[in-house]
Amino acid sequence: MTREPIRSIQTGLNALGYQPGPIDGLFGGRTRAAAEGWLAAGGKAALAPAPPPPAPPEISSAVIYQGAARYPVDEIIVHCAATRADWMAGLPIAEKVAEIRRWHMSAPLNWKDIGYHWIIDRDGKVLPGRAENVIGAHAGAVKNRGTLGVCLLGGHGSSESDAFLQHFTPQQDITLRQMIAAIGLRTRIRKVSGHNEYAAKACPGFNVSTWLKGA
Ligand SMILES: [Zn+2]
Repeated sequence: MTREPIRSIQTGLNALGYQPGPIDGLFGGRTRAAAEGWLAAGGKAALAPAPPPPAPPEISSAVIYQGAARYPVDEIIVHCAATRADWMAGLPIAEKVAEIRRWHMSAPLNWKDIGYHWIIDRDGKVLPGRAENVIGAHAGAVKNRGTLGVCLLGGHGSSESDAFLQHFTPQQDITLRQMIAAIGLRTRIRKVSGHNEYAAKACPGFNVSTWLKGA
């Protein structure tokens, strides 16, 4: 009996700001309580976006992360994988993330890990990539520092002025908004941007500021 389905649920609950306890694939008391909280909050649209708590002025430039490495993070940069809508369809998100990790860790990139911190599948499921307390590889040396990279699967053939739903799903829309809200609860995010604001690329295949405003 694989623990992967429960692990995936625990990872998702974590990403949405619930506390299922250790990501161990076991449906114990804490996972049950977190799942019940999530359901009680309305199922899929579980997390009501809340304003980030005001930080005291004396630590205004620092965002403290759990974990050993600490560095200020104040921006989320959205990406797409530029994969076709049916890429690896039917396979678990873990296999898709493993494939992207292989691309990033092999030539010509040869990175030490997958470049993104979070990956959002077509059905809205989420899997972590690089740990949040490790600097990513997604937006160039200058913008990697102090930012988190979130990657949507899909986006093949998109251009930077396309609408979100031309290339991505309503489930991805919900999850990305929930993720931005959840990250904003534990960090002071000042900006959510698209890769195309920092590079001559279509990525993520829509205008992030327009999308954030609900368009
Ligand atoms: Zn990108």
